[in-house]
Amino acid sequence: MLDPASCGELRDLFEGSLIFREPMSLHTSWRIGGPAEVFAEPRGVEGLKVILKYACRLGIPVTVIGAGTNILVKDGGIKGIVIQVGSGLSDIKIDGQLITAGGGLRLSRLVSAVRDAGIGGFEFIAGIPGTVGGAVVMNAGAYGSSVSDLVSRVTCIDFTGEELHLENGQMEWGYRKSALQGKNLIAVEAVFVGSPRDRDLIAADMEKYISSRKAKQPLEYPNSGSVFKNPPGNYAGKLIDEAGCRGMRVGDAQVSVKHTNFIVNLGKATAGEVLDLIAAVKSRVLERSGINLELEVKVLGWD
Ligand SMILES: Cc1cc2nc3c(=O)[nH]c(=O)nc-3n(C[C@H](O)[C@H](O)[C@H](O)COP(=O)(O)OP(=O)(O)OC[C@H]3O[C@@H](n4cnc5c(N)ncnc54)[C@H](O)[C@@H]3O)c2cc1C
Repeated sequence: MLDPASCGELRDLFEGSLIFREPMSLHTSWRIGGPAEVFAEPRGVEGLKVILKYACRLGIPVTVIGAGTNILVKDGGIKGIVIQVGSGLSDIKIDGQLITAGGGLRLSRLVSAVRDAGIGGFEFIAGIPGTVGGAVVMNAGAYGSSVSDLVSRVTCIDFTGEELHLENGQMEWGYRKSALQGKNLIAVEAVFVGSPRDRDLIAADMEKYISSRKAKQPLEYPNSGSVFKNPPGNYAGKLIDEAGCRGMRVGDAQVSVKHTNFIVNLGKATAGEVLDLIAAVKSRVLERSGINLELEVKVLGWD
């Protein structure tokens, strides 16, 4: 078991914050999740390398998160070290149309910085929560555009602490997919390329997207965005609605009445309840339409 006594060496070496038995519900937009054995937020790339090398040497499992807006952490929590790529890795530099952003930079800060600099192309990101790293890994997108359209290069650190660079063409982009998924690679920086655009036009489009989200999404409850991927040529929300699942509930987990591809936490929902609801929705949709819905959210941790 990892505890403050067994991790004395790490506490001496590590630059950043280390918390033991940290409830993951504090770090997920669903407000759900059991404890991380160790929750670490590195200050800078060197801090990240130190903790990765330590974990690698001792065979401690590592899990990486950004802002926790697309994950479901199970009730048993996460064994080993959870590394949050957050404010310690959130620098931003703008040079002409090139934007270099830390993996932990919030997307809200990215979009306001490019808007103020008169750089267009990022409008669709307005209102998507999360970090630059999470958005690159998930190839986040909306309104027909995705992060893959903007990325030039990504700097990663692998779980042994080595740095590598991936160009756009090496990222194996797909729908909510990139080469970084399941590969033990941490996105610490991304270079984006935008194009010049009038600030007022950028701001107007961003406002439009944010208003549309407020109108359609149940943002008044903790949620994790779209739970399922849209199957080719169809919409998960439509299939879920047609299968009669609108408002369906297991404990405090409910298929949103406002947007059927969202599951909301009405108060004290557990990951177990969300997973049971997911299974029930999948089975009803399969029965009704013959389509096997695939999860968009990533499930982490132990039962
Ligand atoms: C209200 C709401 C609306 C949303 N709308 C959209 C939308 O329109 N389009 C869309 O695509 N998504 C949407 N999402 C989902 C989510 O915002 C995006 O997927 C976002 O990019 C996730 O970023 P994050 O930092 O929160 O990642 P997390 O949820 O923390 O992690 C997501 C995955 O990425 C991995 N990961 C995170 N950071 C890193 C890193 N630096 N290096 C390596 N791996 C990492 C994690 O291990 C996990 O597998 C929405 C979510 C919410 C709550």
